[in-house]
Amino acid sequence: MTKQSHTNSNLIMLLHSSYVFCSFASMLKARGIKKSYGNLPILKGVDFEVAKGEIVSIIGASGAGKSTLLHILGTLDKPDAGTVELNGTEINRLSGELLSVFRNRNIGFVFQFHHLLPEFSALENICIPAFIAKKTKKQAELKAMELLDLLGLRERAQHKPNELSGGEQQRIAVARALVNDPVIVLADEPSGNLDSANATALHEFFISLRDNFKQTFVIVTHNEELAKISDQVVTMKDGLII
Ligand code: ADP
Repeated sequence: MTKQSHTNSNLIMLLHSSYVFCSFASMLKARGIKKSYGNLPILKGVDFEVAKGEIVSIIGASGAGKSTLLHILGTLDKPDAGTVELNGTEINRLSGELLSVFRNRNIGFVFQFHHLLPEFSALENICIPAFIAKKTKKQAELKAMELLDLLGLRERAQHKPNELSGGEQQRIAVARALVNDPVIVLADEPSGNLDSANATALHEFFISLRDNFKQTFVIVTHNEELAKISDQVVTMKDGLII
């Protein structure tokens, strides 16, 4: 078998496994996660589970390790010890192209700042992860327009980010996270930069995605309203879940 065809068959097995294990109750499972920066221990042995269709909020004081945990769950950082499984795939064992493909197909990210590309329209920004997943322009735009409809932003499709309000920009960023139908969306303070009306609209969108599509979310937040409407609230203190 050539190196390329071996990589391709690994890729197919990997992508297949994420569907085979869809019926597991815990779709995300982290065990014994430890992480230090230099001599400073940041995560000290975190266990964490999320079921499909749950909204889980991670709360806790600044510096508790919430973002570090979220980055590890999302494969943006590697733990020093412990395991993370997403739909039965041990994701911290992946690297290189396999990891990039897995992340692109399975994980959606939303950050406090929208990080939309200013020179592209709302529609084009939403389509970017779909193009990376090698979807056709037609497929990508069809899905992006569906998401714009769900968000009530269809008429904004051709607008550039600087022609949108802060709330609209953040909803476009959420649509971008959803365009590849990820098994999980990881969000770091998604409403941290929004006024209360826009924050509520964003939270209601998360709830409707959970209720209508069983979309799963893990959200780092300081927003009490969002924590209250979550299915599970996890509190972190000094690198541990308490
Ligand atoms: P939280 O999200 O709960 O505010 P973080 O996970 O962002 O906490 O950070 C936890 C601690 O880890 C903080 O003291 C922070 O300064 C430190 N930290 C985070 N990332 C790095 C890094 N790349 N290098 C060194 N220290 C870091």
